Amino acid sequence: MIDKLVSRKALELESYKAELKTQGIALDKNEIPWNLNEKVEEALIKKIWSMEFNRYPDSNCTDLKKAISRYTGIDTESIGIGNGSDELINVLLQTFINPGDTLAIHNPTFSMYKIYGTICGARIWEYNLDSSFEFKIDEFISCLQKEKPKLVFLCNPNNPTGSSLALSEIEEILKKTDGIVIVDEAYFEFSGVTAAGLIASYDNLIVLRTFSKAFGLAGLRVGYMLACPSVISYFDRVRSPFNVNTFAQAAAAAVLENIDIVTERIKIIKGERSRLTALLSEIESIQCFESRSNFILLRSSYARKIYKRLQEAGIYIRSFSNPILKDCIRISIGSPEENDSLYKVVKEAVYEGI
Ligand code: PMP
Repeated sequence: MIDKLVSRKALELESYKAELKTQGIALDKNEIPWNLNEKVEEALIKKIWSMEFNRYPDSNCTDLKKAISRYTGIDTESIGIGNGSDELINVLLQTFINPGDTLAIHNPTFSMYKIYGTICGARIWEYNLDSSFEFKIDEFISCLQKEKPKLVFLCNPNNPTGSSLALSEIEEILKKTDGIVIVDEAYFEFSGVTAAGLIASYDNLIVLRTFSKAFGLAGLRVGYMLACPSVISYFDRVRSPFNVNTFAQAAAAAVLENIDIVTERIKIIKGERSRLTALLSEIESIQCFESRSNFILLRSSYARKIYKRLQEAGIYIRSFSNPILKDCIRISIGSPEENDSLYKVVKEAVYEGI
């Protein structure tokens, strides 16, 4: 009965699979391995005492916008806040896409662009990356000029490949495209490459960021975008009025007030990324793709076995059904101890088969 009532677009979709794991080592969702730092936790507890949970949150996220403005150097009128960057992706597509408009994405990339695009009735055009997952930028631009998309997503660094476009390449795309270009910088803090400085020059540029990765607040759902004030005001028309709860707004601001702790953690993750990449690359049959993010993509003929052995050991990583990612698995960078445990199991899984 329900199948007959549901919209054609919803029928096309499969739900996003994100399992809750209460035990073991979670290296499957690109989170950081540490909970809130004690100093931030204490600051937040103090803030809770003055919070009025019977009141709706600040619809404009005034204090958080000020904190983000200090962090990014971008004016508050150019900042929009969402319930995770997932919500921003969804609302921006609803803001710009009419049914039948073309949405350009590259493949592989973060799956939610396609899912939300499908719900909006977009015609989705995919640019397949080559087997080394590199962009041929001239080819991509000439396709964009032919396809004339209303909106283009660039995931930078790209999830799940970890590769990053240079700023000059993003600017080249912006110059040659009439549509909206959304640069998803969910992993910016690990790459250091940002298009934020181009906002003032390009009205059609939107930069997305999140508090779920380097800032360690995935459980609280806060993302933000940087764009020209006119984009922000259209976004404000479409989003729910109280999309970010009071506690999440305060927590994100508290993390930004203690940025030195975040910086220290990023340094550790980047160090572990290099260490784990070097270790895994030495294992026979494993190809590690260079990552600018807090995860590593591997290709190996033993991928399925590695995945299974890790699962048996209570270590969870990401596998894929996308054919372009055949024999690939993605490993989020954990704490040094977690990475050691993972390395041991991966090595055993490969060498027991040789
Ligand atoms: N963009 C990218 C590229 C991601 O990898 C993710 C989460 N994995 C998101 C956006 C969504 O992040 P969140 O909704 O937690 O802000």
